[in-house]
Amino acid sequence: MDNTHSSQAMPAHDTEYWQALDRSHHLHPFSDPKALNAEGSRVITHAEGIYLWDSNGNQILDGMAGLWCVNVGYGQHTLAEAAYHQLQTLPFYNCFFKTSHPPVIELARRLAELAPANINHVFFTNSGSEANDTVIRMVRRYWDLQGQADKTVIISRHNAYHGSTMGGASLGGMAFMHRQGGLPIPDIEHIQQPYWYGEGASLSPEEFGLQAARALEAKIQALGEHRVAAFIAEPIQGAGGVIIPPESYWPEIKRICARYDILLVVDEVICGFGRLGHWFGSQYYQLEPDLMPFAKGVTSGYLPLGGVLVSDKVAQVLTEHGGEFAHGFTYSGHPAACAVALANLDLLQGQGIIEQVANETGPYLQQRWQSFADHPLIGEVRGVGILAALELVKDKPTHARFGKLGDTGTLCRDICFKNNLVMRAVGDTMIISPPLVITRDEID
Ligand SMILES: *Cc1c(COP(=O)(O)O)cnc(C)c1O
Repeated sequence: MDNTHSSQAMPAHDTEYWQALDRSHHLHPFSDPKALNAEGSRVITHAEGIYLWDSNGNQILDGMAGLWCVNVGYGQHTLAEAAYHQLQTLPFYNCFFKTSHPPVIELARRLAELAPANINHVFFTNSGSEANDTVIRMVRRYWDLQGQADKTVIISRHNAYHGSTMGGASLGGMAFMHRQGGLPIPDIEHIQQPYWYGEGASLSPEEFGLQAARALEAKIQALGEHRVAAFIAEPIQGAGGVIIPPESYWPEIKRICARYDILLVVDEVICGFGRLGHWFGSQYYQLEPDLMPFAKGVTSGYLPLGGVLVSDKVAQVLTEHGGEFAHGFTYSGHPAACAVALANLDLLQGQGIIEQVANETGPYLQQRWQSFADHPLIGEVRGVGILAALELVKDKPTHARFGKLGDTGTLCRDICFKNNLVMRAVGDTMIISPPLVITRDEID
């Protein structure tokens, strides 16, 4: 443990000071303010590699890479320098009124090179939620421009996560989010998720994968093909509990989207930028999406940036029909965020981090993770690349849980946290998504 580092960087104020101010003035995202105020927040002061330090000097292994985003790990100076230089050269300019700037142009080109071959354009946002709001607007405009204004329905999945704006949360399939604020917005539909362990019952994974995919076909038929604009899904559901679809799922989804002429939108916010050992989850599953929203790993979280990667098919319609796409953000393509993204891509490429995930650390993590499978309380272990989950159960053969779903997961998460490991609990599913630079020793 690097004690010198943590003591040198100790903040001027103590934990009680920060907690009192936090309690008085800061409303936290996705938190119960009453419960949090009673307990007090844990104050993170600095970080290096895969480790965080809190205001009490504890060193914590960040098993979640922040929020699935710090792919290159903490303390990468080239990203900080890229932001510093860009802020001195051109801290801000917009791209609305016939203007552009070098970092946004260069980043668009780099992303087009890395994306599947049919994708060569980028629309920039500041987050994954905004990227998915952009998807809703862009998909509907795509069909409207072709004289199919009724093709507005976007089909998503229960327990999907696509963000927390009105659009993003509507696309998402989180019932507890829909209950707050009268969501989803109109013309968003949800189908079954491909969660074999939780919902597969007596079917084999392959049979269940086909069944879950065919729920899309049934929904299209129920609504009418002329009404359905797109299907959106994460390659692997992240926040839903690292739900890895059976092998049969994605090929069947591809077939259905093609057969009914609906756009395939693959949300790459978590799977993009190396987590599965490929630049994008779509490459891992051999998909050629029409749109790919991204965020998180594009800057490794060092600055906020998101966007939508747009296929030639969609870009051509938006371009050739002319007329303004009446959508965008002040900070679409922010110069400093783009400069940081470029430095992040340089690091991922220059250091061969994604190849390392594919060939070394990914397989090693999965092999070590499998050793939990014999544990009496663990019903299933699963993972791909540097992403993994395990299911806590009371009874392995029946998949029966302990008491109320979520209580055991929360207990386990709290125990991990007390022992200086950040893991996340989704119900009774424990998940990890550490920085991609994690080493074999650190995995051990
Ligand atoms: C995190 C996430 C989002 C939302 O991104 P924000 O930057 O938090 O708005 C969207 N989709 C997926 C799959 C995500 O994991």
